[in-house]
Amino acid sequence: MTTDQTTAQEPEALTFKAEVQQVLHILAHSLYTDREIFLRELISNASDALNRMQFEMLTNREVLDPEAELAIRIEVDSEAKTITISDSGTGMTREDLVDHLGTIAQSSARAFVQQAGEGHKAAASEIIGQFGVGFYSVFMVADKVTVVSRSFRPDAEAAMWASVGDATFQISAAERAQRGTTITLHLKEDAAEFANSWRIEQIIKRHSDFVAFPIYMGDGDRQLNQQKALWRRAPREVEAEQYQNLYRQLTLDADAPLMQIHLSTDVPVDMHSILFVPAKRERGLIERRIEGKVKLYSRKVLILEEAKEILPNYFRFVEGVVDSEDLPLNVSREAVQSSPVMQRIRKTLTSRMHRELNDLASQDAAKFAAFWHEFGVFIKEGIATDYEHRNELLKLLRFHSNRSGEELITLEQYKSRIVDGQTEIYYLLASSLEGGRTSPHLDPFVARGIEVVIMHDIMDGFMLSGLRDYEGLKLRNVDEADLELPGEAEAAAPQVDEATFARIVERAKAVLGEHVKDVRASTLLRDSPARLVSDDEGMGREMQRIQQMLGREAEQTPRILELNPASNLIAALARRLENDPDDAVTTAAIEQLYDNTLLIEGMHQNPATMVPRIMQLLEAAARG
Ligand code: ADP
Repeated sequence: MTTDQTTAQEPEALTFKAEVQQVLHILAHSLYTDREIFLRELISNASDALNRMQFEMLTNREVLDPEAELAIRIEVDSEAKTITISDSGTGMTREDLVDHLGTIAQSSARAFVQQAGEGHKAAASEIIGQFGVGFYSVFMVADKVTVVSRSFRPDAEAAMWASVGDATFQISAAERAQRGTTITLHLKEDAAEFANSWRIEQIIKRHSDFVAFPIYMGDGDRQLNQQKALWRRAPREVEAEQYQNLYRQLTLDADAPLMQIHLSTDVPVDMHSILFVPAKRERGLIERRIEGKVKLYSRKVLILEEAKEILPNYFRFVEGVVDSEDLPLNVSREAVQSSPVMQRIRKTLTSRMHRELNDLASQDAAKFAAFWHEFGVFIKEGIATDYEHRNELLKLLRFHSNRSGEELITLEQYKSRIVDGQTEIYYLLASSLEGGRTSPHLDPFVARGIEVVIMHDIMDGFMLSGLRDYEGLKLRNVDEADLELPGEAEAAAPQVDEATFARIVERAKAVLGEHVKDVRASTLLRDSPARLVSDDEGMGREMQRIQQMLGREAEQTPRILELNPASNLIAALARRLENDPDDAVTTAAIEQLYDNTLLIEGMHQNPATMVPRIMQLLEAAARG
């Protein structure tokens, strides 16, 4: 959007972009449960502008008012029912005003309109700040708003933006000597309470206490926010409530965090940090997936809003603040990310996170269970990707087994229950816990008293790529074709002679054709009629399974179908073939047995296709 030189000074009336109009419409019609948040949004914008200014001045002194104090000032006039919020931040040019306060980033606006639209009216004020449409929340309390701003660029001129919150806004030239922005709100009748200094102070304490710049009231120097960085205090001086306040202000999450970690070090790196693990992976009403943000400061300057490199990727649910005096300041943000200091910070924070989580696991089982429920998938991702911290991560791992009840078990517990001669940890991949518990693969293990880990989470297949063994015990999939089990179990008695059994094997080969690699008698099954085993290397089918669970078309490598000569069902079918080699019921039963095994493992591509065949079998059963 450009305005040419001749008209740049003229007042103009412009129309808000369609998305802004939608947002304004929603705000005008939303239930004002929490309208005080408009102030948080304006202060947060002012603080962003001050941050950008501070960052700019690290390398550029050619700015307007280089000596001006970086601060926010608020004035109220209860007679005129106005609030004025000023900052000495970067300011905006006429074009900036048009661009930033006349449009919104498309995608975020659409998300906001979707989430705050029909059905969620009450929630608009709760979520507005997360969608980059914060400024417009002023129209919850004001029926007229003016913004006068002057950019820090020495040659820029002041400009004014004004709107009554309808479809248009006005832009004109303005008088302003100093750098920065002043926003004036003319409050609605029913919002007059906000033109009151104690009310403003209360809101600031609640939402903006830790803003890094001073917030002053009126002409005087009375500072409303406490500003001193909590993370720079000694942990013993900080109260639980202060941590919670900081957490809420950082994350806008209304729930208290699950845990916080406050650490200060000076070797090997100077660092003050408070990290939080949220209580829930999804937040509140709107079901938005959390991707935690860790802010990075150096000498009170915000360097990175979201320091992704500061922890391994699998800890991306962590939120918080890191502050280090050792970071190089006069370099680009990219250079900060890749500096050796950053590596040291990352190392220190990562090992501290591991220590805290392991402490939680050993000291507070219930709380750890809550953690695992929300964030266990991230730990599994860590096992697959972080070889260095594998041991710490493995201690956190929890899973179900054919013996676990409500409580999940650890690898350590599994190990303590292995039977004589057992050198492997056996696992079963299933589509669900129930599916896993009814799997035919369990037969021989139950008979021998061997425990089997049931893996039914989509991440498990991926995790296994980093989990080949644990303390000398190899992990082994129970569906391997050449499985030899320790211990003894009474052999199950065959229900048919070999010649009769051979008929059903032949029939199954003919019916299933390409779908199977081979059909053979099982030596391990006891009660179940059939199972599928693999004789290829493990990873291929685990990745196939992930594809399948993600709903993608996955190519399935044919496996070996094992039929159980000790099963009454198999015996009965084999006998039917003696009377009629083309028996339709047996054909349908073989197909269904094959589908059953796929279904339990979550490998069936389209279960609904089984229905006609099931009907056919039901009819046969009903006829007797
Ligand atoms: P967000 O702050 O999430 O980007 P807003 O609608 O609140 O969304 O603000 C839009 C943009 O307007 C900001 O990104 C910023 O560029 C600009 N802006 C708002 N307030 C100020 C201010 N006080 N000083 C400088 N720029 C501002």
